[in-house]
Amino acid sequence: MTASDSELWRLWRDAAGRQEVGERLRGLLDQIDQQVGLSGFACEQSGRCCRFESFGHRLYMTGLEVAWFRLLVGATPVFESGGSMPLPVIDPKRDGCPYQVDGACSVHGDRPFACRVFFCQAGSGDWQAQRYEAFQNEMKHLHEELGLPYRYMEWRQGLADAQANGL
Ligand code: SF4
Repeated sequence: MTASDSELWRLWRDAAGRQEVGERLRGLLDQIDQQVGLSGFACEQSGRCCRFESFGHRLYMTGLEVAWFRLLVGATPVFESGGSMPLPVIDPKRDGCPYQVDGACSVHGDRPFACRVFFCQAGSGDWQAQRYEAFQNEMKHLHEELGLPYRYMEWRQGLADAQANGL
């Protein structure tokens, strides 16, 4: 039997809300940040790679990562007044990431793994591919441990689906 979309999002949201799962995911982000620091690759912060259509690539991740991200940013106070960040309009047809604001990432500290591992510098391709594969293996193990369905999706479509399912 196949789980419905709403059931899948409920499972991912419930898992993402567990402290130990959040710690595992945060640990993987911290790990890649450390590896980036040692790699010598650097982001020019041009914001071009976040405008997917014009850059010519797409961002993909698991439903569990999308659910965890939505739980994180929904609770992130970014204004001096202490208010939460307003959720952006998520349109899978928009050119680029809905979290890019004025050319910069508005969720830098919580941005997904795929954003952290990508560099447009020549010579970074093999390095990225190895880290990405290792990360995907970790994610598959985590899904198996948790008994969660594993699904891989385009970032904006995943965000839109998550939002449609209450996240
Ligand atoms: S989350 Fe941030 S870094 Fe990732 S694509 Fe969106 S704007 Fe770019």
